Amino acid sequence: MNAPELITDPAAWQARCFAARDGGARLALVPTMGFLHDGHLSLLRAARARADEGGRRGLAVASIFVNPTQFGAGEDLSRYPRDLQGDLAKCAAAGIDWVLAPADPRAVFPPDFQTWVTVEGVSQGLCGASRPGHFRGVATVVAKLFNLTRPHVALFGEKDYQQLAVIRAMVRDLAMNVEVVGMPIVREPDGLARSSRNVYLSPEERGRALALSRALREAAELAGGGERDAASLRARARARLEDAGARVDYVEIVHPDSLAPVPRADPGCVMLVAAQVGATRLIDNLRLP
Ligand code: AMP
Repeated sequence: MNAPELITDPAAWQARCFAARDGGARLALVPTMGFLHDGHLSLLRAARARADEGGRRGLAVASIFVNPTQFGAGEDLSRYPRDLQGDLAKCAAAGIDWVLAPADPRAVFPPDFQTWVTVEGVSQGLCGASRPGHFRGVATVVAKLFNLTRPHVALFGEKDYQQLAVIRAMVRDLAMNVEVVGMPIVREPDGLARSSRNVYLSPEERGRALALSRALREAAELAGGGERDAASLRARARARLEDAGARVDYVEIVHPDSLAPVPRADPGCVMLVAAQVGATRLIDNLRLP
């Protein structure tokens, strides 16, 4: 279990990654904001496996960067949890070779930064509606990380379902030569989706936060039992969340690729919820059977 090499300078990172790729290495990248948990770990382990495909040891790399451009005014940028030493230990356990962790956001977004990637359609509803500019910040930093790393494969979690759709659209539309891999949501034993933000929850809020995964599971059971009317499934899930004292941002059932809302919850559709529990905004989603 070797410690990964920590690189803080994006230019040095780019030189190392390009040299490795030119030397024939296969690169797998996991972009994160750090404070790593088991959800991140599944991505890191998958990156190790994907880098080593083909029988030759490749390079599994991760970035740890709390991207200021994806936070809105009044969001939790200044208090977002951080633990670089703990993160490096987890990266080591997952077999990560190199970690890019810029010490200062200005190394990625200098004062004269002025180029933005805006993905239109799939950014618009859901979290895009309540977090204006969020997906522009996400797409831009991921595009920059792709240009700095030139990975063959990049891994993202389905926990952030809309983010994954935004990145897939960006990669397709701009012909970025990266294979985007989506990984299943990793949950706590009681069902709560793992998130760096769960640390904000008080024990009492942690209990109420279970309403998100429970509402989704109940909807999946109802849909599996034949209730395919999206409006009634959504109303029921919303009531569950409100009963738990969560402030609902949205409850939607959408087409898995276009993210367009659907009237019928056919198999393969995805139900997504976002709600505030105390001061913490949580998201979760589930594919309906
Ligand atoms: P973040 O550090 O929150 O930006 O997340 C970095 C990556 O980890 C993103 O691709 C997330 O979708 C993914 N991720 C976060 N939480 C989970 C989870 N519970 N299960 C699977 N992937 C996750």
